Amino acid sequence: MKIVSDLDALRAQVAAWRSASETVAFAPTMGALHEGHLSLVELGKAHASRAVASVFVNPTQFAPHEDFDAYPRDLDRDAALLAGAGCDLLYAPDRHAMYPDNFATSVNVAGVSAPMEGAMRPTHFAGVAVVVCKLLNRVQPDIAVFGEKDYQQLQVIRRMVADLDMNVQILGAPIKRDHDGLALSSRNAYLNAQERVVAGRFNVILAEAVNALRRKTPIASALDEAKAKLLEVGFKAVDYVELVDPDSLMTIAGDILSQPARLIAVARIGNVRLLDNMAV
Ligand code: AMP
Repeated sequence: MKIVSDLDALRAQVAAWRSASETVAFAPTMGALHEGHLSLVELGKAHASRAVASVFVNPTQFAPHEDFDAYPRDLDRDAALLAGAGCDLLYAPDRHAMYPDNFATSVNVAGVSAPMEGAMRPTHFAGVAVVVCKLLNRVQPDIAVFGEKDYQQLQVIRRMVADLDMNVQILGAPIKRDHDGLALSSRNAYLNAQERVVAGRFNVILAEAVNALRRKTPIASALDEAKAKLLEVGFKAVDYVELVDPDSLMTIAGDILSQPARLIAVARIGNVRLLDNMAV
């Protein structure tokens, strides 16, 4: 696996592949890699002859009080994991090369960015959109793979790519989970042993809500019950448990579920916000 931080070297390699009629899949990450990230590379490799991954802790998607400085960084470990997953090139740009002092552009995706994470973290998706736009322009892949773990982010990127006529196919990868069903996340490393046990209840409680909704339990009671159970098992707070349209992310109106939906939730434990979601 090649490791490059220079944009010209990245472009030269991708151009060489292209002139040999190869196709390129791309998985952007912030590093601190786990099986979830590696599954994106594997899915990319199943759809293209070459896989590129990036590791870049993107400052613009963190609010000033968030964990940008503390975010775990270990490029050697990430490189070894990516190589093992069949990645052909790791792109690890430098912060200043991505955002020079005179950087002035923002990318705002209205609508899908607004609810849930957008309401809790008002500048987050603009930061995600600008960095993904830049990375897609830099790598110019045929396919880009994003995890359903960050379901709203996936929809924001789909919207941006469609609206800006970007010539890339977006693939969503299923959520990779730990032995007890906890969605893998780089931030799970912040949990202590006791918090980790509680965290394992998150997916179970959401799955119970999914079952209740399928049994035609009124939507409001299924969501309220999930929130109450999360607090009961030891979560410090529940930021939201929402039932939304899988594409528009609009809240599903009505008493009883009668259409495909996505259950999306964020709950806090210790200093960690855990995100999870499931198809209903
Ligand atoms: P991050 O490094 O957290 O920015 O995530 C990079 C990419 O990996 C995003 O597309 C995430 O949605 C995806 N990802 C993170 N965790 C998982 C997981 N448990 N399963 C599948 N994809 C994931």
